[in-house]
Amino acid sequence: MTETHEPALRVRFAPSPTGMFHVGGARSALFNWALAEQSGGRFVLRIEDTDAARNRPEWTEGIISALAWIGIHGDSPYFEGPYFQSAYEEQHRAAVAKLIADGRAYHCTCTRDDVKARTGSEHQGYDGFCRDRGLSEGAVRFRTPDEGVTVVDDLVRGRVEFPNQAMEDFVIARSDGSPLFVLANVVDDMEMRITQVVRAEEHLSNTPKQQLLWEALGATPPVWAHIPVIVNEKRQKLSKRRDKVALESYRDEGYLPEAMVNYLMLLGWGPGGDREIMPWSEMVPLFKLSDVNPSPAFFDVKKLRAFNGEYIRALSPELFIARCEPYLDPSWGRETFAKVAPLAQTRISLLSEIRDNVDFLFLEEPVFDQASWDKAMKPGAEEILAGYLDRLETVSFDPESLKTALEEVGAAHGLKLGKAQAPVRVAITGRTVGLPLFESIEVLGRERAIDRLRTALTKLTATAS
Ligand code: GLU
Repeated sequence: MTETHEPALRVRFAPSPTGMFHVGGARSALFNWALAEQSGGRFVLRIEDTDAARNRPEWTEGIISALAWIGIHGDSPYFEGPYFQSAYEEQHRAAVAKLIADGRAYHCTCTRDDVKARTGSEHQGYDGFCRDRGLSEGAVRFRTPDEGVTVVDDLVRGRVEFPNQAMEDFVIARSDGSPLFVLANVVDDMEMRITQVVRAEEHLSNTPKQQLLWEALGATPPVWAHIPVIVNEKRQKLSKRRDKVALESYRDEGYLPEAMVNYLMLLGWGPGGDREIMPWSEMVPLFKLSDVNPSPAFFDVKKLRAFNGEYIRALSPELFIARCEPYLDPSWGRETFAKVAPLAQTRISLLSEIRDNVDFLFLEEPVFDQASWDKAMKPGAEEILAGYLDRLETVSFDPESLKTALEEVGAAHGLKLGKAQAPVRVAITGRTVGLPLFESIEVLGRERAIDRLRTALTKLTATAS
């Protein structure tokens, strides 16, 4: 890389560790990560841990491990941090002191009730009562301009104007001196030499205040970009009460990180053309904030799942087996699993689905799913099972011959293969859907297959009598 005198791009991701790591946070992190990577800049991870009552260390760890899962980690040259907001309290307090000394902020002892009594309204902003009282204690308010507009030039939303008259003198520190988010966040960004702030749209209303703070502290504000909210199928903002939002739960269900990354990047952005499935390395150079669509982005779990299926199918057989490993029982024979893995790979769309597809091979007896049993074990099932049991003793044990044998047994009872398969499949696997039947029987082996048909027949006779 050639050295230039332009400041390198420095972006940041600044989560508060107050809960599980939200997919929306992951999308913000990825947008920032793409910018850092494409420009050889830096992605700063800053944990905003100043809300002691709501923060928990395990949530910080959760954020760091979830970020690593989607490829954002300290082994990369673009990564810097993590920094912790709580370590910068001295700088926050110094900034407040400077704003007071410069006449840009002032102490205020008014209560909400005081303001209400003076303005006659609950909803009226602060009336500036303490502005020129020269107090030396109380909360600290920033003196906002009385006239004009504060213009936020946003790379996603365009030019947004905020009339200063409508902006009250907002609080930047509590009466105990502790700084508020709006101030701490700016001071940290200055401290960390952040050049672009790319964050969720919900922070847009803070931005004019923060821009004024940057200027009052004598610095050039960053370039802003507020990325669209994420909504569910009812067009409601994704919320942790209603929707599955934790990145960790997608990971545990067996979404591949590369599918997740690909899908999250499409929430508000697209590489153009018809292509949606695209690896990270190809998306990075194409990503542009000015192409991000400001309207809400729909988090379509069905589509995500379809993506995941595609990514699963694209894995090499060896990699597929390796990715399934956490979902397999330790006692299950890996050689047997390797035989059926390719059959499962084309069928599942979540890695966690692997269990139900292959467990029949490893269990002493299949787990009979009652609905499957009732559906398959209709009148005539007994004859099919008995007839096929007979043939299994001698048939050559390859999928083709196994299929022909069942076709013949079905035909003898006036049933097409599809119908004749149902009771056999349930007898063998316990379920009506699953891997291709004849390959499954082959891997299971003659003895065990015969055993299972017998067990099913006994069960059938027992329930019939
Ligand atoms: N800590 C803030 C949040 O989690 C981030 C604010 C920002 O990105 O500026 O919402």
